[in-house]
Amino acid sequence: MRLVLVGAGHAHLHLLTHAARLRAAGLDPVLVAPARFDYSGLATAVLSGAVAREAAGVDVAALARAAGVAHHPTQVVAADLTGRRLTLAEGPSQDFDLVSFNIGSVSRDPNGLADRPGVWAAKPLASLFDLKTWLETAMLGRAEAPRVVIAGGGQSGFELAAALAGLAARHGTPPQIRLVGDPEATWAPGRAGDRLRRSLIGRGVVFERGRVIARTPTGCRLDDGRTLPCDAVVLAMGLEAPPLIAELGLPLGAHGRLRVSPSLQSLADPQVFAAGDCAVIEGAERPMVGVFGVRAAPILLENLIAMARAAPLKAYQPQAHWLSIMDLGDGTGLAMRGRLWTKGRAALWLKRRLDRGFVARSGRLKRGA
Ligand SMILES: Cc1cc2nc3c(=O)[nH]c(=O)nc-3n(C[C@H](O)[C@H](O)[C@H](O)COP(=O)(O)OP(=O)(O)OC[C@H]3O[C@@H](n4cnc5c(N)ncnc54)[C@H](O)[C@@H]3O)c2cc1C
Repeated sequence: MRLVLVGAGHAHLHLLTHAARLRAAGLDPVLVAPARFDYSGLATAVLSGAVAREAAGVDVAALARAAGVAHHPTQVVAADLTGRRLTLAEGPSQDFDLVSFNIGSVSRDPNGLADRPGVWAAKPLASLFDLKTWLETAMLGRAEAPRVVIAGGGQSGFELAAALAGLAARHGTPPQIRLVGDPEATWAPGRAGDRLRRSLIGRGVVFERGRVIARTPTGCRLDDGRTLPCDAVVLAMGLEAPPLIAELGLPLGAHGRLRVSPSLQSLADPQVFAAGDCAVIEGAERPMVGVFGVRAAPILLENLIAMARAAPLKAYQPQAHWLSIMDLGDGTGLAMRGRLWTKGRAALWLKRRLDRGFVARSGRLKRGA
C-alpha cells in the first residue's frame, strides 16, 4: 500500500522517525514536503535574535534519507481523491492508496493584504525570517528602527511584538512597534494579559484599538478610518488551514480545517487522514497549537498501520488543558495552563528546554527505524 505523507509537520516528523514500523506493516511511505521544517516554538526566538534559524528546525531531507523514505522536496498543489493522485509543484504526480495531510496553517488575511508590498505574514514562518533580515538591514547604521504595525491582538500578535522589541534592543535601537487589536489580551488568564501589556508598553510597544483593513503606500488604514504611518505590517489575525484542504472537496470545519473523526480520518473518505492545524476533530475542536499535532502523532502511526492490516483503529481524545509558554524576547517567558500563569525567567528556561528537546528528538530516528 502506497502511503503518501503530505507535509512534514509535527505528526509526520514522528512518522518518519518510525518509518520502519510503517514498512513492517506493508506500507510504502512517500513524503512530499519542503526540505526543511521550521519549528514554530522557536520562531519568535529566531525573530528576536536569541536563537539561530539553523537551530530552530529540522532537516527533513536528511531525516527522510536516514529513514529510507522516498522524499519529494516540494509541495502538493492539487489532489484528485477519486483517481488517488496528487499533483506536485515540481516533478511528476504521485499516486497513493492512503494519504495523510499534516500541512499546518497560514495566516488569516480577510482583507487580502499579504501580497501588498511591506506586508509580512506570521505564517508561513519563513515570512517572519524574511522580515527579520529586512529589519536588520534597515537598522544598520540607523538611529531609528523601521515603524512596524502588528495587525492582530491575539497571543501571536503579542508574542511578535515582544520579539520585535527584543530584536530592536539587541541592535541598540529604540523600537517603533504598534500593535493594532484588542489590547486587553482576553485570551490570557487572570491578570496575565494586563501584566504582559504593561511590560510591553514599558519596552516601547504602543497599543491601538481597532483592525487593520488596508495597506496604503506609506502606512495602513484602520476600520475606524484612521491611517497609521508605517514601513511594515505583520499579519497576526489568527490562522486558517492552507487552501489545499478546501480544494479536497471533503467536509470542512471552521477556518477551512478538514473535519476528521477521532481516528483522524476524513468524515467522507477513510483513506484520507489528517492531523495538526489543518484538521479539526469531530466533537473535540481545539485551537491551532503544536501540542495537538504532537499528541496525535502516535495515534496516527498506529491507525495507518491498522489500516494496512485491516485492524480496528484507535481514537485520539485531545486534552482539555495544555501548557502554553510565550517567549517575551527579553530573556523571560509567560507560561499559561488553564487559569494558572507565571511570568519570568524560569518560564522561558522551561520553554527552551521543551522546544530544543522537540527539535532534537524529531531529527533522530528511533532505534531500528
Ligand atoms: C509566530 C507564531 C508562534 C507560534 N508559537 C507556538 C508555540 O510556541 N507553541 C505552539 O504549540 N504553537 C505555536 N504556534 C502555532 C503553531 O505554529 C502551529 O499550531 C503548529 O505549527 C501546527 O503544527 P502542524 O504540525 O499542524 O503544522 P506545521 O508545524 O505548520 O507544519 C506543516 C508543514 O507542512 C508543510 N506544508 C504546507 N503546505 C504544504 C503542501 N501543500 N505540501 C507539502 N507540504 C506542505 C509546511 O512547509 C510545514 O513544514 C505559533 C504560531 C505562530 C504564527
